[in-house]
Amino acid sequence: MTRPRILVVGAGFAGVECVRRLERKLSPDEADVTLVTPFAYQLYLPLLPQVASGVLTPQSIAVSLRRSKKYRTRIIPGGAIGVDLKSKVCVIRTITDEIVNEPYDYIVLAPGSITRTFDIPGLTDHAFGMKTLAEAAYIRDHVISQLDLADASQDPAERASRLQFVVVGGGYAGTETAACLQRLTHAAVKRYPRLDPGLIKWHLIDIAPKLMPELGDKLGSSAQEILRRRGIDISLGTSIAKAGPEEVTFTDGRVVPTRTLIWTAGVVASPLIATLGAETVKGRLAVASEMNLPGDDGVFALGDSAAVPDLAKGDGAMCPPTAQHALRQGRHVADNVIASLRGQAMKPYVHKDLGLVVDLGGTDAVSKPLGIELRGLPAQAVARGYHWSALRTNVAKTRVMTNWLLNAIAGDDFVRTGFQARKAARLKDFEYTDAYLTPEQVRERVEGASRPE
Ligand SMILES: Cc1cc2nc3c(=O)[nH]c(=O)nc-3n(C[C@H](O)[C@H](O)[C@H](O)COP(=O)(O)OP(=O)(O)OC[C@H]3O[C@@H](n4cnc5c(N)ncnc54)[C@H](O)[C@@H]3O)c2cc1C
Repeated sequence: MTRPRILVVGAGFAGVECVRRLERKLSPDEADVTLVTPFAYQLYLPLLPQVASGVLTPQSIAVSLRRSKKYRTRIIPGGAIGVDLKSKVCVIRTITDEIVNEPYDYIVLAPGSITRTFDIPGLTDHAFGMKTLAEAAYIRDHVISQLDLADASQDPAERASRLQFVVVGGGYAGTETAACLQRLTHAAVKRYPRLDPGLIKWHLIDIAPKLMPELGDKLGSSAQEILRRRGIDISLGTSIAKAGPEEVTFTDGRVVPTRTLIWTAGVVASPLIATLGAETVKGRLAVASEMNLPGDDGVFALGDSAAVPDLAKGDGAMCPPTAQHALRQGRHVADNVIASLRGQAMKPYVHKDLGLVVDLGGTDAVSKPLGIELRGLPAQAVARGYHWSALRTNVAKTRVMTNWLLNAIAGDDFVRTGFQARKAARLKDFEYTDAYLTPEQVRERVEGASRPE
């Protein structure tokens, strides 16, 4: 008898938690577990702004998938580009661009999300995102290079435009990114005696009337107050009308000369979900509270790519796209896959949100653990403590703690590596969004492969 094949797509919070639990709870002869992932690490995304600002090294938040001999999952290095639910085949593009068909009995879809963009002229050509390790490392180099180039320039207009930075998106990702990078440029400019610190200007804009509404009015205002005190210009009810290589036009008519536009205005489910041709809710795969696809045996989805009902909230709400939910759903879905494999009953996913932590760099932070509002050092201790304990391995914990201590003692460093200096690197270059097949192409590929020669 062949063993059932479980295929997990995506090695993020959801996918890795699922795989580790399957490895622990299933005996090797009960099922074969395979993981499809383009990278050899699990990325701890909430600490990405700290990589961009150089507080943490990229390696410290990239947790290796091969740290232990106990990890028996077979890893396919590549990305899933389509799934044919009828014939139970996942089409994969490997990192060497070969296309392979991978059959499965159970599939767990955890490919996460991509940056949500809108039809704004110039946006995808000129904006950076903050979703991948490469983007964070690239943005860091880019920001430092703006200081270097402004310092070298004799042209006052060029200097002024290189020293203005625009971040769009007042959620935690955008707010933390603006806060951490502003601290970096604020500290760095002291090393550039020819530059007027008054020329450095960070703009944080959002179409919503409030920053991070999940924080509530009082804490949200505290966060705004901290950022304004640091000189960050916050514009609410505002978005981008047009983006160009040397300027950005806001919807309120202002034209800001800048070479740096960071776009963090929300996420949408991975394009992989659309290849299934199944029902979606705002682009996320519509699943039951057990995280299975109703009517399709052996198909599960979770994390940012799935619309998992939020039973703790009720009222038809779906779980927000957060790491907090994704990793818990990862463990839970593993239990449900095992239950389904063993012919037992699956359980619905329920988790009450634990709150939000927002690290604004240094001792600035706001946090709302279990509804308790915290500011300053206590909030920072909770934010860092939470992230630190959520890192999967002791090696990652040690790396992150060492980096934090080093930064607290020795301060920021302003090294521009130049590794990616001449490569095109905007939103569309980092997220490989054009790699996916249409549902019809998936069918054609799968049928073509099963047809006799
Ligand atoms: C800057 C930033 C800050 C954040 N801060 C917080 C926070 O403080 N708290 C919080 O709870 N959440 C935070 N989040 C959100 C959180 O990181 C996500 O909700 C979480 O990562 C979702 O987990 P996931 O497993 O669904 O997706 P991910 O963790 O994104 O993992 C998806 C994985 O799938 C891989 N993948 C993608 N496409 C494919 C494919 N086609 N085939 C195979 N593999 C694929 C990706 O490479 C990735 O490894 C933050 C996000 C960002 C960007």
